[in-house]
Amino acid sequence: MDSATHLAMGIAIGGLATVDPAFQTPDISMLGLMGAMVVAQQAPDIDTILKLKGNGIYIRNHRGLTHSLPFLLIWPALITLVFGYAFQFNWLHLFLWSCFAVCLHVFVDIFNAYGTQALRPFSRQWIGLGFINTFDWYIFGSHVLAVLLWMLYRQPLIIFGTMYLSLIAYYVLRYSIQRSVRRSTIRLIDDEVEEIMISSTSHFFSMAYCCHYKRYLLCCTRLSDTGHDA
Ligand SMILES: [Zn+2]
Repeated sequence: MDSATHLAMGIAIGGLATVDPAFQTPDISMLGLMGAMVVAQQAPDIDTILKLKGNGIYIRNHRGLTHSLPFLLIWPALITLVFGYAFQFNWLHLFLWSCFAVCLHVFVDIFNAYGTQALRPFSRQWIGLGFINTFDWYIFGSHVLAVLLWMLYRQPLIIFGTMYLSLIAYYVLRYSIQRSVRRSTIRLIDDEVEEIMISSTSHFFSMAYCCHYKRYLLCCTRLSDTGHDA
């Protein structure tokens, strides 16, 4: 996902973490807890700095090593060291919540077309399911709304629990849409196509697809509610 969504997700996790008795002592630093969760949500995307070395290096490596299996533990360990020491948090609970934030980051990235090397070092394959756009208004908006409601009503379990349930339903809906578009597209195209890749866009009723032909021709077209746009 994009940085704004990860920021909203980090704040939401920070809000949800307040249900943990370990973070309910009177002298607890809410700023420190929020900071830890926001950093945990952003940490895997630190490889964005590779843009400074050029777009080619960035595209080849972004969401690679920093999203790999070892880093699901390395990022939380580093965050626990820094924030646990600075704010005197319960180290184990901070580590577990940081793990949740980092794992959720990598997990949601898998649904974008860009993909991640989430199974590295066991596999270097890029995993990208493509039915959620890198920026999705519903995902971003539901987090912002939930954070606002939490600030007003202080009911983290109900508010964020409802938000996560609605997001699960939304992911299922987006997957169903992608599957039905794939089926109808396969019916429209000719037998020369060996593979078809469909991914969502920032518009709810619009999807992009690429057809890989036997004669190595790659055709990219956009499907929308108004028909086909070249
Ligand atoms: Zn990422």
